[in-house]
Amino acid sequence: MEINNFDRQSAAAGIVYGRKKAALFVSALLMIHFGLITSGIAQENLSKEIRWVRQSVEYAAVCKQTYFAAWRAVKSMAPAQQGDWAVVLDIDETVLDNSQYQVELFERGESFSYATWNRWVERKESAAVPGVKAFLDSVRAIGPHAHVAFITNRDAKLDPATEGNLKALGLWGDGDVLMGRRERADTKEVRRQEVITGTGRCEGLGTRTIIALIGDQVGDFFEPADGVSYEELKTQVLEHPDFGVRFFALPNPMYGDWERGY
Ligand SMILES: [Mg+2]
Repeated sequence: MEINNFDRQSAAAGIVYGRKKAALFVSALLMIHFGLITSGIAQENLSKEIRWVRQSVEYAAVCKQTYFAAWRAVKSMAPAQQGDWAVVLDIDETVLDNSQYQVELFERGESFSYATWNRWVERKESAAVPGVKAFLDSVRAIGPHAHVAFITNRDAKLDPATEGNLKALGLWGDGDVLMGRRERADTKEVRRQEVITGTGRCEGLGTRTIIALIGDQVGDFFEPADGVSYEELKTQVLEHPDFGVRFFALPNPMYGDWERGY
């Protein structure tokens, strides 16, 4: 269960620490704890990174706190915007949790392939990343100048399946933009520019200021230079003024550009 609006959640925070609530909270934690032990036995052969995403409350906590920080930033920046603005989110391991696909690969002794991946996407069974629904509901509640754009490197042909999965989870809003990747040259930066300038797939939507970007790969925030080393890129990220201000990164220990050195 997820509280579906961060502002309501903040208002409720004051009563969480009442005695009765505390007792209920402890009971709930014990139930979660025993539930995890049970599922942990069944899935103990899974790799640690998959287990961490699926079985650790710390993963959920990091995701929730990232989305909450993003919400606080958006809430403070929104009133100063002239005209329309947007938040841009990646899809995989940012909005949708595909750890079940990773489990199935593990069970079959396979590694990633586009054939199995596309079949997984068509099933529309991905779960929501913790915190994302409250974030999106809160952003949309700001008003008509607030917009949501999803920019994903899923094949653009899979956009209908992706949209269906988002709708099933209550994550899709009227007027949202979803842009899968059409071809190699169709980078995320190309698509971010379409959001900003109201061109290409965003023709007719008008110009929009992107006030926050959320993702699990550095390319969700900016395009790393060709041939950049891990050390150089790490320095760029650590010195970049936008992380924690406009850029909000989620953890993905299961896969990523880090595996092949960017
Ligand atoms: Mg991703």
